[in-house]
Amino acid sequence: MPPFLFMDTKPRLVDSHAHLDMPEFDADRTETVQRAFAAGIVAILCPGDLTRDASLPAIAALSAEFPNVLAAAGVHAHQAKDFSPAHVDALKGLAAHRAIRAVGEIGLDYHYDFSPVAAQHEALRRQLALAAEAALPVILHSRLSGRDIIAAVDAEGFRAGGILHCFTESWEIARAMLDRGFHISFSGILTFPKAGDLREVAGRVPLERLLVETDSPYLAPVPYRGSGRRNEPAYVVETARVLAGVRGLALEDLAEATTANFSRLFPV
Ligand SMILES: [Zn+2]
Ligand SMILES: [Zn+2]
Repeated sequence: MPPFLFMDTKPRLVDSHAHLDMPEFDADRTETVQRAFAAGIVAILCPGDLTRDASLPAIAALSAEFPNVLAAAGVHAHQAKDFSPAHVDALKGLAAHRAIRAVGEIGLDYHYDFSPVAAQHEALRRQLALAAEAALPVILHSRLSGRDIIAAVDAEGFRAGGILHCFTESWEIARAMLDRGFHISFSGILTFPKAGDLREVAGRVPLERLLVETDSPYLAPVPYRGSGRRNEPAYVVETARVLAGVRGLALEDLAEATTANFSRLFPV
């Protein structure tokens, strides 16, 4: 028999967004990454939270053990009210030492009001400016706030690109961010029965700008969804499978394209 029949045929996927720093993974952080790699995941991007002391050290420890676990850092829209000069200094230091590959996640969230909108805008604008200075891409979070995200990117003249993660908005928002050089990442939400509109948008994003993610420990995809089950990077294949179906591609081809996109954004 030809040797290729014995090759490992698991699709090579990247989880472009996983919060492995969260306490939900304290008991099995290393094993979670090992499970992901065993399932065919080849890289994981972890956005660290500068407002939580345990966050960056947890990600740094993983990156030291697994070079394909990439670190980012920022102050999320939810914590924007706590954004301070100390966070600016921390980000500058991390960027200078190349300890992070992106600034994020940062953004706006008009669904939850954990921080006043004005504070969210201030934190977003300051961190976009910092990322531009450091020539780093950004990981953007947007919930019902796409237009203001676009306005902030334009107001800063931000051109270093990055990822609009866990995309849930309209094609108009997606297209505007694509025009500004961003990649669009889809989470397990894409697998939810009611996400027909989102699947339609996912069908229109150019293949060379698509990414997939888990947003672990949140948003477990179907069939893992429900009963408060923890999401983890190994499950990103379920989102990739749905995205491949939407686009009429084989899972392997979708995996190859999204993994190549990630590698272009974050060369190793
Ligand atoms: Zn987010
Ligand atoms: Zn996130």
